[in-house]
Amino acid sequence: MNIAVFSAKRYDREYLQSAFDSRHRATFIEAQLSPASAELASGHDAVCAFVNDNLSRETLTVLARLGVRVVALRCTGFNNVDLAAARQLGIRIARVPAYSPHAVAEHTIALILALNRKLHRAFNRVRESNFSLEGLIGFDLHGKTVGIVGTGAIGQVVARILIGFGCEVIACDPAPNDHCRQLGVRYVSWDEVCRNSRIISLHCPLTTQTRHLVDATAIQKMNPGVMLVNTSRGAVVDTRALIDGLKRKRIGSLALDVYEEEAHLFFDDLSDRIVDDDVFARLLTFPNVLITGHQGFFTHEALTKIATTTCENLTAFEMTGAPVHEVPADLGTSVISTAPL
Ligand code: NAD
Repeated sequence: MNIAVFSAKRYDREYLQSAFDSRHRATFIEAQLSPASAELASGHDAVCAFVNDNLSRETLTVLARLGVRVVALRCTGFNNVDLAAARQLGIRIARVPAYSPHAVAEHTIALILALNRKLHRAFNRVRESNFSLEGLIGFDLHGKTVGIVGTGAIGQVVARILIGFGCEVIACDPAPNDHCRQLGVRYVSWDEVCRNSRIISLHCPLTTQTRHLVDATAIQKMNPGVMLVNTSRGAVVDTRALIDGLKRKRIGSLALDVYEEEAHLFFDDLSDRIVDDDVFARLLTFPNVLITGHQGFFTHEALTKIATTTCENLTAFEMTGAPVHEVPADLGTSVISTAPL
């Protein structure tokens, strides 16, 4: 098949080309997918898209007109897809349901450890021959209560690692699982996660139910000084409420790998430009905030699995008319980003 790969970076080209081999022909397009750039898919049967590509009704309508019949997402989340529009337009949506939960879970743990022991500050100090320890006090993870929101593939691995550290792990999930219970995870309500956790780590998908789950009301319920970690999707938290919580010292520290408006920022080198997002700029001013640019998934193993599963989806669609891992068109929970792209 002819595949238009949007938001393509050098590493996408490397891993996808190796997986596609001679089975599919790919055109790598640096631009994000949007209603304006969708025309670039002309002459292709399939589109391959990533987390910040815009798959709104407007974009999908252009793709359908061009004859695109399948969109292979090279990610797990599908919150950026208007599934109802895809169904009406006859475009099948495929995704990579699991690649390496370890990649994201281990990044989450890296953020927790770095933020707690203030490695981001210590690194800079030592480079400047400043060996003062003032302001670098952390806390033992051992014995602390960690609240996990969403105990799916990633949340489970995070729970297992934290239990290894000697943490007490509580969790909330509308679909609790026995594996977590056997690990020693105690399921409680979201309210109790807020009230009882020293650290809260988010691992749920972005849906209409989870959008701004962490808002001013939730922050008010949390233990003063709570550490909050979000490696799920940016809009699961209300960023303005986080800033207010940080200013009022309700939130003791914050680690983000995802950001509500990341589509304008992440995955590109903007170091010689002015960042005009004042909310993001404000976040960067806090010494107790650690941000990475959506790199939780970024390991060799994950990229290999993403590429092979994407290839399997496209090959299956070509042979049978259905991708292996199709996002059911009747899943009414997707949330379309309102961010202009
Ligand atoms: P998963 O589908 O295996 O697990 C998600 C879990 O969240 C499920 O158990 C589900 O029941 C639960 N859930 C749903 N609604 C909830 C709610 N309201 N409250 C609490 N739990 C709820 O997904 P996963 O593979 O573990 O991935 C989790 C999320 O991590 C993805 O949806 C994606 O947004 C994000 N992610 C981020 C990166 C990254 O690079 N930072 C990479 C992959 C995935």
